[in-house]
Amino acid sequence: MRAHSAPSSHSPVSSGPSAAGAAIELVALTKRYGEAKPAVDAINLRIASGSYCCLLGPSGCGKSTTLRMVAGHESVSSGDILLGDRNITNLPAAARGTAMMFQSFALFPHLSALDNVAFSLKMRGVDKAMRQQQAQHLLDRVAMGHLAARKPGELSGGQQQRVALARALITQPKVLLLDEPLSALDPFLRIQMRAELRRWQKELGLTFIHVTHSQEEAMALADTMVVMDHGHIVQTGTPHEVYNQPVNEFVARFMGGHNVIRTPDGLVGVRTDHMQLTPAAAPAPAHDLALPAVVTDVEYQGTYVLVGLQSLGAERTAHSTAEFSVMWSEARFAQSPFGVGDAVHLSWAAQAAHPLRG
Ligand code: ADP
Ligand code: MG
Repeated sequence: MRAHSAPSSHSPVSSGPSAAGAAIELVALTKRYGEAKPAVDAINLRIASGSYCCLLGPSGCGKSTTLRMVAGHESVSSGDILLGDRNITNLPAAARGTAMMFQSFALFPHLSALDNVAFSLKMRGVDKAMRQQQAQHLLDRVAMGHLAARKPGELSGGQQQRVALARALITQPKVLLLDEPLSALDPFLRIQMRAELRRWQKELGLTFIHVTHSQEEAMALADTMVVMDHGHIVQTGTPHEVYNQPVNEFVARFMGGHNVIRTPDGLVGVRTDHMQLTPAAAPAPAHDLALPAVVTDVEYQGTYVLVGLQSLGAERTAHSTAEFSVMWSEARFAQSPFGVGDAVHLSWAAQAAHPLRG
């Protein structure tokens, strides 16, 4: 493998995982397109060096615009972007220390893996021998050195992703920016590829900022999840924090797995797997908050059964939420197999309810 014989001064990435990344800070970062409401509205965010950050939110919330401003592919209306100790807000893309990985990897189909990886060095005027040596080194680094001569069409999806990674790394970025890199892949490959992205991020020690609309993908990947809505950051935290303590109704609904319930005391979120079902004929669980309900739907999901319910009776006025879902483990379902039309008590312990802002 040529990687081991390459002089270290030519090595395009540091040989160890230490301190290759840099922290990013967004300060009141804003993007306006014309007169409309800002696409990105004065967001503040600090991303730790060497961490995996996912920007998450529904289509149109401003994720790509934010990423493009960091990349230097979109001008900033106001605010600042700091990378390490540099203010990069107005630097050209190539001078920032960032690199971008696009959806479906966007490799040039007519170029070999080696030439794809070497491409941006060619644009920067690096001579052929030098850029090919560096590209080969990076392909070796991602275990693709032996396939350097192949074109993208002759590589599997996983191999293409590694070539795309090597291509992004060749300019020695401190921050890798990824815009929905997995969303065009089939579900099986997507899960494989995200595990690989996570592994490379840890191995390289770079800061990754990954845009996705999939809460599942963000939870699987992120050290820090940043949930956006209408150009604002609504919540920042670890996946565990965001899933277990969504700050408001939007985050609870977007993350899924929660019932949002309007109680006499206000709005609360209760995880669908923290709710209890008991047959209506049995006494209601005394220590819990209970509602009479009827089963409207039963969906088998393998390890669990998703039970849809409609609440009934007087409590429906106080608890104005009518639709619920309960994730019922397969083992529990085997013991009490509820069916559509069954009357039940739907209940939850007070401590399972997490208060939400409206
Ligand atoms: P996301 O990536 O979260 O789906 P975007 O950042 O692409 O969202 O878009 C945020 C908002 O900015 C959307 O309302 C979109 O229509 C608008 N927008 C994005 N790019 C442009 C543009 N070049 N010109 C005008 N409006 C744009
Ligand atoms: Mg987008």
